[in-house]
Amino acid sequence: MQENKQQIKTTIDAPITSDSRLFGSIEGGGTKFVCAIGNEQLEVVEKVVFKTTTPEETLQKVIKFFEGKSVSAIGMGMFGPLENRLTHEKYGYITSTPKEGWADVDVVRPLKEALDVPIYFTTDVNSSAYGEFISREKADGLVYYTIGTGIGAGIVLNGEIVGVTGHPEMGHVSVKRLADDAEFEGVCPYHKDCLEGLASGPTLEARLGIRGENVALDHPVFEIIGNYIAQACVQVTLTIRPNIIVLGGGVMSPTLLEIVKKEFKKTLNNYVEIENMDTYLSLPAVVENGSATIGNFALAKKLM
Ligand code: ZN
Repeated sequence: MQENKQQIKTTIDAPITSDSRLFGSIEGGGTKFVCAIGNEQLEVVEKVVFKTTTPEETLQKVIKFFEGKSVSAIGMGMFGPLENRLTHEKYGYITSTPKEGWADVDVVRPLKEALDVPIYFTTDVNSSAYGEFISREKADGLVYYTIGTGIGAGIVLNGEIVGVTGHPEMGHVSVKRLADDAEFEGVCPYHKDCLEGLASGPTLEARLGIRGENVALDHPVFEIIGNYIAQACVQVTLTIRPNIIVLGGGVMSPTLLEIVKKEFKKTLNNYVEIENMDTYLSLPAVVENGSATIGNFALAKKLM
């Protein structure tokens, strides 16, 4: 097979001093895994990207990457739903994912057994939320949404990831249907027209019959999607009063961000004051989808 060709490996020129500890990051997505090693300053020193295949094969590649690298701890952000309650018998499992072969799979134990390091296990969006939190000043209340193949969200409040009986599932909240979008059924396999069902990447193709990446950024469909995202942002604003909402993921663009801002202001209608309105809704501060990696390093460091 073409396995090695699909595997992109980079060594980044960040300093490793002999006395500095190293931390690991595993970002497990539905299509690819990104594994990285970071230094005390949370800078990436080595990184590898490979395709997500079966759990056995994929986890084996993760183990191979980290073997012999002497990381002190690993932060692991995975696609969910997953079980991240430490006391739960299924802690470390991906639970009910529709992704073939990955439902009810223990992903933490094989890694712990092979690598013998502490692992902080959470969702990829929680990792991203944490990465954005530590990369910004004055982000005591930060909400991170990823708008991509699905919609997920994580919240960091006063330095802690939010969620007691599990992780947030704010991608599946209900939003008010727009009159000119009444015909569209929605794509969520569970709820049809929840936020994910109306505003995730696959809704572009479902609505227009052309692949999402081929839809022009100024296409009117983004007015509809932007409104639904804005509704979610209003709801979370009213619920937890964060000081920033970060919008990441493949569907987001500067153009869509402006639409979301416009719709957000209209929907909130000055009911509560947003002091930093210009930056309250923002694209990620960490470039090249790196929020989760930085977040994982920081979560790993937190274990020490
Ligand atoms: Zn849903």
